[in-house]
Amino acid sequence: MKQQIAKRVQWLRIIVQISFLTAVILGVSTKLFSSWLLPAALLIGVFFCGWVCPLGSTQDWMWKLGRLLRLPQIHVPQRAQRYLQLSRYVFYFLAATWSISFALLKGPHNFNRLLHGDILTAASGVVGLFLIVSLFVKRPFCNYFCTGGARQGLWSVLRIFSIKRDTGACGNCGQCTRACPMNIDVANTEFVRHPNCIGCMSCIAACRKGCLSYGKMPALPGKKNKQADSTARDSK
Ligand code: SF4
Ligand code: SF4
Ligand code: SF4
Repeated sequence: MKQQIAKRVQWLRIIVQISFLTAVILGVSTKLFSSWLLPAALLIGVFFCGWVCPLGSTQDWMWKLGRLLRLPQIHVPQRAQRYLQLSRYVFYFLAATWSISFALLKGPHNFNRLLHGDILTAASGVVGLFLIVSLFVKRPFCNYFCTGGARQGLWSVLRIFSIKRDTGACGNCGQCTRACPMNIDVANTEFVRHPNCIGCMSCIAACRKGCLSYGKMPALPGKKNKQADSTARDSK
């Protein structure tokens, strides 16, 4: 039952993603959301990335297209992901402290320019390359390069609502981890407070046993909220 509802939520998410993509093409600026992004991240996590951002949505669709075309899928092992996922925070730190900013790191802006026919700006940020890589790797720009996603993610660590796993009922099949576009090891996590979580709910839709749900988190990170050591099980 939970999985059925979560699957419907995934359809709703696609409709919302397409609506925002259309709105941006029609000239609506995603800057409209900038004032509520960080408070929202504190409350419900980084929903902007899972539901709104056109570049994030398009990477999702490219990944799905890659699967449809039976292209090889590269699942970054959890052991490597643990280090690789730090890169976007390093870029964010460099950008915030020394104002170092490369065209490469302005992906959402470059993609919006591409949607408006500004191919030169998009080319300077190699947006096309990221989209091609998305056929094989889940959300490469979001996972490893996006400083905007990193900024929201850091706020979201203290969020009040997120994904919970019923550890007693879980069969440790790993489907939720494999479904996660941000490579979070959900199968080894009791409460998802990971800063990379984008609130997409794909993990809930992937769990046949209905062990995952969305709800209120414990007040503060502590014993009951610790993420299990992901060295225990790498995603296959
Ligand atoms: S991480 Fe960046 S590119 Fe990805 S969805 Fe979020 S804002 Fe968009
Ligand atoms: S998909 Fe469900 S049963 Fe499988 S590991 Fe994840 S939470 Fe456990
Ligand atoms: S943990 Fe679940 S909600 Fe968060 S990004 Fe991964 S699949 Fe989406």
